[in-house]
Amino acid sequence: MDGVKDGVMDGDTARDWRALSAAQQPAWPDPGALGETRAFLRSCPPLVYAAECDRLTERLAAVARGEAFLLQAGDCAETFDGVGVDQIDNKLRTILQMAAVLTYAASVPVVKLGRMAGQYAKPRSSAVETRDGVALPSYRGDAVNGLAFTEASRRPDPRRLRQMYHASAATLNLVRAFTTGGYADLRRVHAWNRDFVALSPAGERYERLAREIDSALAFMRSCGTLPTELETVEFYASHEALLLDYEDALTREDSRTGHLYDVSAHMVWIGERTRRLDGAHVAFAAGIRNPIGVKLGPSTTTDDVLALIDRLDPERRPGRLTFITRMGAERITDVLPGLVEKVTASGAQPVWTCDPMHGNTYESASGFKTRQFSRIMEEIKGFFEVHHQLGTHPGGIHVELTGDDVTECVGGANAIGDEDLRTRYETACDPRLNRSQSLELAFLIAEMYRA
Ligand code: PEP
Ligand code: MN
Repeated sequence: MDGVKDGVMDGDTARDWRALSAAQQPAWPDPGALGETRAFLRSCPPLVYAAECDRLTERLAAVARGEAFLLQAGDCAETFDGVGVDQIDNKLRTILQMAAVLTYAASVPVVKLGRMAGQYAKPRSSAVETRDGVALPSYRGDAVNGLAFTEASRRPDPRRLRQMYHASAATLNLVRAFTTGGYADLRRVHAWNRDFVALSPAGERYERLAREIDSALAFMRSCGTLPTELETVEFYASHEALLLDYEDALTREDSRTGHLYDVSAHMVWIGERTRRLDGAHVAFAAGIRNPIGVKLGPSTTTDDVLALIDRLDPERRPGRLTFITRMGAERITDVLPGLVEKVTASGAQPVWTCDPMHGNTYESASGFKTRQFSRIMEEIKGFFEVHHQLGTHPGGIHVELTGDDVTECVGGANAIGDEDLRTRYETACDPRLNRSQSLELAFLIAEMYRA
């Protein structure tokens, strides 16, 4: 906390991200207001504690060794309006339900990591959006500007960073209450899954697995060994570390160790558009001690990955680095094997996880940005296959979802079609799996473990 100079990481000038080019930063119109906001953020209590980040690093080290599975999930873009008890509750329930199914199927602990409580900033492929001949700045997430297509709403406003902090704090508070207060008891989560199986058109298919979990729980109960661990859940928060003014203002020195931590989330990741080796985002991440994720798209080269490892994890700390591959269903089996092979040969052991969303996005005939459920599953299958063939561990999945019954991705057991997309298309950015598609995905992955 004390002694962290504004914008200077670690006292090491090579790590001063401000000296480097930072992609995807908003053109803040008012430097004064930005300065005030940063000062405010520096005075705010941390949202997470360094020791919690270290615990997540340990959990991720288990994933890297093949002894656990990572489920990272949540909105593409959280919104300030979305900070309501029902939305957070539904999302959390969905993630916990998926985790219960995956824990049983994979027979290893599932590390639960929300894209939650801070996922308010978005990189965009174009700085400008044009509609009917009118060009305005693109929406960059609620942390920066408003989604409404008006000049006033699209103007970046640094005061929104305060709201980002408060929205993150409120969300995390509810998540902590839900996950430790008895509400997330495994028996209750399983009962929710029973309801899903009973109601889903594909329910019959999942009935057997649900019954097996019933039996396992009944068996433990009759042995008198239902551990208290079943009553609480360890849940972590993550988001893309995109807005460096925000992340930096929430970076603090840990009094135990002297290391710097970004206390805005347990884990932060670097996006596909900001992972340049000589860029500010990689420099920022190199200077903090949190576990770090890096998105890897289909154009990633072996040299990129090896250099990222050297830069972000020179000490080869188990659990420090997670590669989130997002290759697309078509490319995954071509591109991934070479990367995994070379990284393994280098002696590094990162977590490999599969984002099956971002490589499979397209515009539907009805004009909506969407993703096909079957393509999402195909990429996950490809990911498992590649790791299976190489003898490495398919460490987890990274998905965009909501707990609500939206219609944003096509397909799934409820057969959402192009024409249905308009019914409930609510995302502020990318299309998310709805509640039933998310659970179906978990059950389908569970089936893959048994095949
Ligand atoms: C995202 O995760 O929402 C995102 C923008 O992903 P990527 O950086 O992989 O494009
Ligand atoms: Mn997205």
